[in-house]
Amino acid sequence: MTVCREFPVRYTNGYGKRYIRGSKPYRSVLVHRWVWEQINGPIPEGLEVMHICDNRACYRLDHLRLGTHSDNMRDMHTKGRAGGGRKWRATHCPQGHAHAEHAYYDKNNGPHCRVCDAARHREARRVRSSV
Ligand SMILES: [Zn+2]
Ligand SMILES: [Zn+2]
Repeated sequence: MTVCREFPVRYTNGYGKRYIRGSKPYRSVLVHRWVWEQINGPIPEGLEVMHICDNRACYRLDHLRLGTHSDNMRDMHTKGRAGGGRKWRATHCPQGHAHAEHAYYDKNNGPHCRVCDAARHREARRVRSSV
């Protein structure tokens, strides 16, 4: 997994905190949600932006994914026990690119899709310049 990008300002629960420019009185948002929405639009109702890295202060787009609250709980569970077995068995990335064609294998983290990685890097650069 790539290195986390941690936001310096935090809520007391550990999540990154960003102030909305120009708001009076100051309003603040969860940084990881804010970053996700800049790229993907509003978070659909009932879903949450989750950290695949379990680092609440992290706002790196490739460490964030959308899921339900129960996904989130289940995720923590399986991660604690199995350490990502599902990932190793996958034949396609979540976007449907065949791993056989596009993936490189990282001995700790399993297959990475090069097509999606390239797209994420472009987005990350864009976010960095706007945060
Ligand atoms: Zn992270
Ligand atoms: Zn892909």
